[in-house]
Amino acid sequence: MKEKIHPNYGPAIVTCACGETFETGSTKKQLKVELCSKCHPFFTGKQKFVDTGGRVDRFNRKYGLVNK
Ligand SMILES: [Zn+2]
Repeated sequence: MKEKIHPNYGPAIVTCACGETFETGSTKKQLKVELCSKCHPFFTGKQKFVDTGGRVDRFNRKYGLVNK
């Protein structure tokens, strides 16, 4: 019974629109995504925040991550 809840779960190759490929677990063997950790705005933006210093603080306060 329980096996049928997760049919054919196994390794899958994910291909991103930016050209990046990586392996994950899925019920499908191949997946296509438009964003990955290499090109997602959150990650690229985060690096920019680190470079510009003060923006991190503003970002954190805006989203309530830091209590000041
Ligand atoms: Zn990508």
